[in-house]
Amino acid sequence: MQELLKSHFGFDAFLPLQEEIIASVMGGRDTFALMPTGGGKSLCYQLPALALSGLTLVVSPLIALMKDQVDGLKADGIDAAFINSSLSSQEMSSVQQQVRRGGTKILYVAPERVTLPGFQRFLTGLDVSLIAIDEAHCISEWGHDFRPAYRELKGVRQSFADVPAIALTATATKRVREDILSQLGLRQPNVFISSFNRPNLTYAVEPKKDALAALLRLLDKHRGESAIIYCASRRATEETAEALSERGYTAEPYHAGLEPEVRRATQERFIRDQIPIVVATIAFGMGIDKPDIRLVVHYDLPKSLEGYYQETGRAGRDGMPSECVLYYSYGDKTKQEFFINQVEDSDEQGRARLKLDQMIGLCTLQTCRRKFLLEYLGEEWPEENCGGCDVCLLPREEYDATEIAQKVLSAVVRTGERFGAGHVISVLLGAATKNVVSWGHDQLSVFGIASQNSSDELKELFASLGSKGLLETAVGQYPTISLSPKGRSFLKTRDSLVLTRAINPNGGGSKLGSGGPAYDVKLFNQLSALRKQIADQRGVPAYVIFGNKTLQDMARKAPRTVEEFAGVSGVGEAKLKDLSEPFVALISGYVEANGLPEYAASPSEKSASRKPASGIIGQTVRETGRLVSAGASLTDVSEKRGLSERTILGHLERLVESGVHVDLDHLMPAPERQHQIEEAFESSGESLLRPVRDMLGEDYDYTELQLVRIGMQLQQAGADPPQRRWGDGPRG
Ligand code: ADP
Ligand code: ZN
Repeated sequence: MQELLKSHFGFDAFLPLQEEIIASVMGGRDTFALMPTGGGKSLCYQLPALALSGLTLVVSPLIALMKDQVDGLKADGIDAAFINSSLSSQEMSSVQQQVRRGGTKILYVAPERVTLPGFQRFLTGLDVSLIAIDEAHCISEWGHDFRPAYRELKGVRQSFADVPAIALTATATKRVREDILSQLGLRQPNVFISSFNRPNLTYAVEPKKDALAALLRLLDKHRGESAIIYCASRRATEETAEALSERGYTAEPYHAGLEPEVRRATQERFIRDQIPIVVATIAFGMGIDKPDIRLVVHYDLPKSLEGYYQETGRAGRDGMPSECVLYYSYGDKTKQEFFINQVEDSDEQGRARLKLDQMIGLCTLQTCRRKFLLEYLGEEWPEENCGGCDVCLLPREEYDATEIAQKVLSAVVRTGERFGAGHVISVLLGAATKNVVSWGHDQLSVFGIASQNSSDELKELFASLGSKGLLETAVGQYPTISLSPKGRSFLKTRDSLVLTRAINPNGGGSKLGSGGPAYDVKLFNQLSALRKQIADQRGVPAYVIFGNKTLQDMARKAPRTVEEFAGVSGVGEAKLKDLSEPFVALISGYVEANGLPEYAASPSEKSASRKPASGIIGQTVRETGRLVSAGASLTDVSEKRGLSERTILGHLERLVESGVHVDLDHLMPAPERQHQIEEAFESSGESLLRPVRDMLGEDYDYTELQLVRIGMQLQQAGADPPQRRWGDGPRG
């Protein structure tokens, strides 16, 4: 399998769960795979298809994508075909003939077709080895894309009794999962559920003030990249698209009220990189599996958290860092409440109100947004700081919160544990609002005891005390806050309490996406232009030629021979043969004119000038240290975190610089080689990589040089006792 993975797809390692799922399929077991978008589901049936002797039948509802999918497989040297209503009857019978002759490994069909008697007859004459049911949530009425034809698939499954089946979906809700299992008739399936965390996505909620100006700044940051902007109404999509066009951006609206041809053309042009920005209602998305969408904006409030997760999920399918930004205003909330109040069915109204409340919950959160979202989706997420949302990315500090926490808890008790945070905060601040006065709370001893604090600080404190389990919230008509048993005992024992808080809560602006790219951007742009030229010549989307991840790896490694080109992630044998020539030629010319890309050029100088304030090391950096110390390789960590290897190396460097011990031995080159590199550093008398690389020659790569340099630093630090260690057990 590993060999097929490399030779056809050009990948060196599996993504999480891929290997297990493939093993289950190859073992002849029915299999159910739940993975988030971008998790690499396709490979879970494509790779077995290559290894099995007969045909793999793939049922997919996404007719518009089948051609691109098949083109993509062909580009990787895999014999694939599709049959759907876009083919003429002549084309259809020619495909059928070809499939009957054998050799075709993968056949895509729409669910409506599989159940036709004529097609069934065609199938029975074939040697089918595997049935794959993609987007399996379409079987459930509880999902958003119900397709009645999926209900018939149970019959198809039964008519191929000895053939294993695999069902795949990215649906996160439990109800739909259960529906799929019960309705598809899988036989004692192995069930695989991977985390729904999308590590390469950052989440941010920003106040909707001067939103257009903020949006323009965001779009400038992502100039030339694909972006979707979601609006709540058709009119809003048109107005926003127009406002953007007037300012020189190429943006088109998309909503269900447009003519089907217009919609199709917009979608097509978006996929082919002819329009970077689509301003859309949620009608846009189903059937878009463009891998390189870098930005998803919610210009209006989404209607539910499921919707938000799904829509933001369209960003970054290729695993590269991508940004999700939501603009929130109190006005949006009242606007939606107005619409909800118009709903006649009271059950439906109640559901909509609950969904809105949950959505507002995400927007007004003072704690990690990723944690909130994943826990809402039913996943356990113990980490407090994800390092990838606006809340977690604000620099934080620890402080002694004992006294202020005592004040807050007392105020909750004195006001009778039957109010929301807003009311108690008014009391704490000493604000004699109408409500406070009418309850007589201005007469309490706790009135005004926290008047030194700001209302924002107190809000954050309520959230922290909630997540520490000292306060509880009951959700009724109005949420009310009370003390948990733990809170009561804290109030009695007067233990000390340490909390963290944002160092600069009013810093403003998004701090996401820092850290420059880890590849030569100029070279990348040239490679990308070449890719577009070839894609246009062949009439396929750019990503069928190479994904962005592959181009970035190319712009990092700058391969100038066919052998080196084979080492780029995402280059399999077919693409090596087909495409290495023009790309290698471009890179060679580029290197001659510009020198080797400055991969890894003296990051230590850079990090010295922007050392983190007061030695604070972010959670994300620490997580790298933890994984590496536990024995992970650079590739493992980079894959797992959705960060480049260079960023990971940067993390290690920062950890070691600030005196943290990391176990790196397993990352080091062979001892002899390591020794050579150390000597080269010593004799060059400085810590820059470039001169050392020049000294040692091309046989040495920058990664190993940098690792050895980190190792040397670590040895020096080892002369003094290490300040901190990441102990997970008695290692080191
Ligand atoms: P999904 O269908 O789950 O959304 P895809 O099958 O489209 O995900 O895969 C997402 C991206 O990950 C694609 O660009 C694919 O080429 C890439 N990918 C899949 N498997 C691997 C792997 N083992 N190593 C590196 N990239 C992979
Ligand atoms: Zn977070």
